[in-house]
Amino acid sequence: MFSVPVETALYELLGVSTTATEDEIKKAYRKKVRRCTSLLNPDDPEAGQRFQEMAAAYEILSSVETREAYDRYGMEGMSRGGAGGGFGPGMDPADIFAELFGASMGFGFDFGPGSRGPRRRKGEDSNIPYEVTLEDLYNGKTVKMNMEKEVVCGVCKGSGAKGSAKPKQCVKCEGKGWTMVTTSLGGRLGTHRAMCTECEGHGEKLREKDRCKKCKGNKTVKEKTRQEIYIERGMADRQRIVLAGAGDEEPGIPPGDVIFTLKTKPHDSFERSGSDLLTTVHITLSEALLGFSRILLTHLDGRGVHVTSPKGKIIKPGDSIVLRGEGMPHYKTPDHKGNLYVMLEIDMPEESWLKTIDPQALEAILPPKKPEMDPKPAVVDEVPFEASDIVDVRETPFPAGSNFFDHPSGFQFGDGDEADWEDDEDDEDGEPECRPQ
Ligand SMILES: [Zn+2]
Ligand SMILES: [Zn+2]
Repeated sequence: MFSVPVETALYELLGVSTTATEDEIKKAYRKKVRRCTSLLNPDDPEAGQRFQEMAAAYEILSSVETREAYDRYGMEGMSRGGAGGGFGPGMDPADIFAELFGASMGFGFDFGPGSRGPRRRKGEDSNIPYEVTLEDLYNGKTVKMNMEKEVVCGVCKGSGAKGSAKPKQCVKCEGKGWTMVTTSLGGRLGTHRAMCTECEGHGEKLREKDRCKKCKGNKTVKEKTRQEIYIERGMADRQRIVLAGAGDEEPGIPPGDVIFTLKTKPHDSFERSGSDLLTTVHITLSEALLGFSRILLTHLDGRGVHVTSPKGKIIKPGDSIVLRGEGMPHYKTPDHKGNLYVMLEIDMPEESWLKTIDPQALEAILPPKKPEMDPKPAVVDEVPFEASDIVDVRETPFPAGSNFFDHPSGFQFGDGDEADWEDDEDDEDGEPECRPQ
């Protein structure tokens, strides 16, 4: 930071100048990642690679020591095991991600082997989205599932080698663990160091014939396991259930975690808002006028909920009631529950019903109709009565059949950089960050 950096590839990757402040670097990284995830296709390995590169660049540039080492020596100063100005405790990009975005990453992106960043302090976490019903979250549930995970090979104890065979220096990178690659960043060509694909950054490699027979040199083998998770009463949507150490094993570092992220399926009759629930119950016109005393609804645990309306109360359109303590259980203190809000919708009788009664008798008992306007306006027009659907009028901003994007008004929606709509501080040319270049 005090002299001209020997290398600038990491700065270019994040799109900041070499004199950027810590804050600017953090901001730039967040922005890149945010855009990255909005474009992220979990099946696209290059997107993962790209994200990984950005995470690595951020890790290096966000700490004063590593940034100084990078400015002075370039990636050379960052190489594996580089003493002194090397990495602090290695950080999993997934951890950085979690730190930036909380527990909200539910897309199950897997940082698979071969795309790993710098040194990590533990094995890969397995992120598994898990769908639950509102009933599951209300009642609690134990789920058993069969899974497969990587375990350290028992034959070679994780060395990957047959007997006492030792790995040989990688020919491709001459033991450095990286090679120079040319990439295009924002239209400019640049070279930077990338992990050697031959030895996966290790700098050395076992010869075919020296590899362990069981794991074929992979150091780990797949093993079937049975996992059990307990969905506790009152857990939230997107809440994570972490099985610490139940994830993939890698030699020399503690195993990763298995992380289930709950995703609530929409419910047919209940909506949840924190610890409260919302539902709609239909009542008849007579119930609205004369009251009711009946089972209004079936709850998420199958219980009938019986409610009696107060004597002499008329229920009007738009009225709602609150059933105290009939909401969701509080997480960890499930005996405490939120409230259940019930919208009462009044169903008017069918027209066929009118034919079965004497309208004059009905008129005699109902409150009187509205009297004629007094004084009467000087001009009165007769306009025909025609039924319509006001909902349609409100929900269609443009005439039916017209396309939002080629509306004849001359608006040019979708033309140009759409990212400007999402991110007003975005000042770039809209080049996608996570797509293969
Ligand atoms: Zn083995
Ligand atoms: Zn190599």
